[in-house]
Amino acid sequence: MSNEDEFSPKSFVASAGLYMDKTSGAIVPPVQTSTTFARNKAYELTGDFSYGRDQNPTYEQVEMLLQRLEKGAGARVFSSGMAAFSAVFETVNSGAHIVAPKIMYHGAQDWLRRIARRRNIELTLIDQSDLRAIKSAMQPGKTEILWIETPANPTWDICDIAAAAEIAHEAGACLCVDSTVATPVTTQPLLLGADIVFHSATKYLNGHSDVLAGVLVTRELDERWQEIGEVRHLAGGVLGSFEAWLLLRGMRTLFVRVEHSGKNALTLAQHFEHHPKIDKVLYPGLENHPGHAIARRQMKNGFSGMVSLLIKGGAEGAKKVATTTKLFVPATSLGGVESLIEHRATVEGPKSIVPKNLLRLSIGIEAVEDLIADMEQALAAV
Ligand SMILES: *Cc1c(COP(=O)(O)O)cnc(C)c1O
Repeated sequence: MSNEDEFSPKSFVASAGLYMDKTSGAIVPPVQTSTTFARNKAYELTGDFSYGRDQNPTYEQVEMLLQRLEKGAGARVFSSGMAAFSAVFETVNSGAHIVAPKIMYHGAQDWLRRIARRRNIELTLIDQSDLRAIKSAMQPGKTEILWIETPANPTWDICDIAAAAEIAHEAGACLCVDSTVATPVTTQPLLLGADIVFHSATKYLNGHSDVLAGVLVTRELDERWQEIGEVRHLAGGVLGSFEAWLLLRGMRTLFVRVEHSGKNALTLAQHFEHHPKIDKVLYPGLENHPGHAIARRQMKNGFSGMVSLLIKGGAEGAKKVATTTKLFVPATSLGGVESLIEHRATVEGPKSIVPKNLLRLSIGIEAVEDLIADMEQALAAV
């Protein structure tokens, strides 16, 4: 793997990191299921491995690819996105302050509210598309983490990562970016100044709706990163080797999947932009989206496959559409090769601040004319 820097990330990930088994010539990395690794006659470890909670060749192959894709100094995989997310916040001292978006992945916000309550951590929720609001929320010396999510669930608000990094660093805080929707295909948060990038690998990185996994990649091997390693080692939320292998297989097609679903999403968003049954289409690739200019600057290879529709006819109208589609599957989650449709307010429950008429679409890699025709026939039923 000496010449890995010769190739673009797209080529590198397609070849699973130019993988080749030295003894057999196999070009696909194996699943290493062993949880323990033997010592030699001198009672030294045979290789770099000791116990499966701390090291495993299969998930380390995935970490190597992720580190390379995000251009970071280190990567760690976890048993779910939420296991990775909570590992970051396990490092926050009690009495400290954290800042996060008002609109973000709702489960992650529920976790923040929980630690704020139980660990005496102050939590400020901001509109992350408003840099002045972020700046005035920061408490220099007390704010440990500024968390942003861009594009953010389910309105696809865009946060200017470079500007947020500057604000965080001025206050002595760490900037973490949930880049699940953006993916490394469109955005490299660490190159824009973020300290840690997070992915629910359950979504685009795996891409086939069949693995739960989470990922953190760091810009520097600093104290917080060491601490995150301690949390994974002690709390044990590491990824299993079968899941790691499936994730690795899914990641080989990451670029073609994300580029294709991004093209489908843009075509579909443009098609429905002025539809009589729709109040508004939310998609950062549309010029009327408030984050469009920043998205153009900080994203490449498309604007992701996530689109939301505000349906005329309120919650009832939206639910009618979500139950009338034939190709779009009414299900939660995102980032798979198949298109999904979801009435977000139902899934988030009564506390949700998401518009009641919002349908979240995860656009897959199907023929876009089929997706458009399916949505047209579902809207005709409202
Ligand atoms: C799904 C998701 C998460 C949580 O990840 P899990 O893999 O479900 O634990 C966090 N952030 C975003 C943006 C997500 O879509």
